[in-house]
Amino acid sequence: MDVELLIIGNEILIGKTLDSNSNWMAKRVTRYGHRLRRITTVGDDLEIISSALQEIIKRKPDIIITSGGLGPTFDDMTLEGIAMGLNRKLELNKHALSSIKKVYKHAYDRGILKLEGMTKEREKMAYLPQGSIPLPNTIGTAPGVKINEGDIRLYILPGVPTELKSMFRNVILPILKERQGKFIEKGFLFSGIGESQIAPYTGELEKKYPQLWIKTHPHIGLSVEVEISITAFNVENGEELVDKVLDEIKEIILNLKGEIINRE
Ligand code: ATP
Ligand code: MG
Repeated sequence: MDVELLIIGNEILIGKTLDSNSNWMAKRVTRYGHRLRRITTVGDDLEIISSALQEIIKRKPDIIITSGGLGPTFDDMTLEGIAMGLNRKLELNKHALSSIKKVYKHAYDRGILKLEGMTKEREKMAYLPQGSIPLPNTIGTAPGVKINEGDIRLYILPGVPTELKSMFRNVILPILKERQGKFIEKGFLFSGIGESQIAPYTGELEKKYPQLWIKTHPHIGLSVEVEISITAFNVENGEELVDKVLDEIKEIILNLKGEIINRE
């Protein structure tokens, strides 16, 4: 499946928060053999959230996941921006409202929060775009949201990493697993010859095996070490093919008088 992320938050754009959510999700999307096609980051701005979403929808990914801006404060405007982008109205969702009420009652009863009952700000989190399915938030208050837009599945998750991860695990991971593809990443380290010297050979191999992504990554250090890795998405007999090409590369390196580093 093709996946896109829409990361929302002024804090990320001003450098206050490092966007770890997208990296965390990218690893999991990839691990299960799906393609993360693009990560878009925008601030808390209605028009920008709406237009960014519309641009993503035009590319027709199978899944869109957003992160951030679901909270009770006025600068959390993700749902409004999404509703605008989808041309849907925001409406009070009864299931979301009752789950939010429950969370606040629980927090009040236990003395965690001093303010009892619902306020305008608390109720705000229950206004979801028409056709939304609320996703329970077992850690925080703001529920996540699932919306089907044509063939696209849109998941709107909170920005707080623990909340995002728990919802991702509960709701999105099962779908990634169900439609799992095969992702392979393998490689090794070598030294004695630089990236530029090996480049013409890997270039040739790329042409010979267009279904593989062959990449060198220089490791900065006293001894010049280069890592070579091959990535394959859903390639038939991928395991065997990757091993075979890695062997070809090892031979090239040895012929160039390079050294292969075996490290456990
Ligand atoms: P809440 O309901 O708790 O307010 P929210 O969905 O409104 O959640 P934000 O207000 O966008 O989330 O972010 C809350 C906090 O979560 C931020 O202050 C930041 O610490 C963290 N956070 C937000 N986005 C990210 C991200 N992409 N990567 C890492 N941390 C993030
Ligand atoms: Mg917030």
